[in-house]
Amino acid sequence: MSFQPYARAETSDLAPWDRACAQIVAAGQRLDQRGWVPATAGNISVRLPDGRIAITRSGGHKGFLTPASVMEVGLSGAAVIAGDRPSAETLLHTQLYAHDRSIGAVLHGHSVAATVLSAMSPDADIVFAGYEVQKVFAGQTTHDAQVTLKLFDNDQDIARLATRVEPFLDTMPAGYLIRGHGVYVWGADMFQALARLEGLEFLLACALERRKLEAAEARA
Ligand SMILES: [Zn+2]
Repeated sequence: MSFQPYARAETSDLAPWDRACAQIVAAGQRLDQRGWVPATAGNISVRLPDGRIAITRSGGHKGFLTPASVMEVGLSGAAVIAGDRPSAETLLHTQLYAHDRSIGAVLHGHSVAATVLSAMSPDADIVFAGYEVQKVFAGQTTHDAQVTLKLFDNDQDIARLATRVEPFLDTMPAGYLIRGHGVYVWGADMFQALARLEGLEFLLACALERRKLEAAEARA
């Protein structure tokens, strides 16, 4: 685990905006290393203590971000500086910040497991049960409980997608999945958001492996 120093100690002496940028750059590198942000996929944001929201600009590879790749948006998702172009899915980030004041970081990626599993799942959610890693999610103190991951159909109209997500925001401790697209995960800070994303991606990878094994057994 190497992301904790980036998220906490190593950036603690920076000015708040620079610290947010450093966390976003480090998170982008980490997501890229894991193969969760292919091409220009994904977006990353942080809410500063003063309420400003720092988010990745539209396009650009998340493995090669610099502080110049980060811009400020308001709670409505609009750029604070005219002419800045935020990620197309910015509203899905700011929706979370507007809904819950305790949220300090949001991550979105397009992993193979998230994409394949959600595309193959006709149901409205995927249920995980019995995995030790479930404890990384809010409200989960034991592996005995189950985690329900909500699935939403993909939509290029992000405002319409946000409207469909809104009623479930308080009931998605593990984040949510957009079918054939990717995951949204959040936390009180970047450290927690990264830990939850890793936990969720682990669960998705396990579920995908199980499906492959079950399919192989059924053929045998
Ligand atoms: Zn996306």
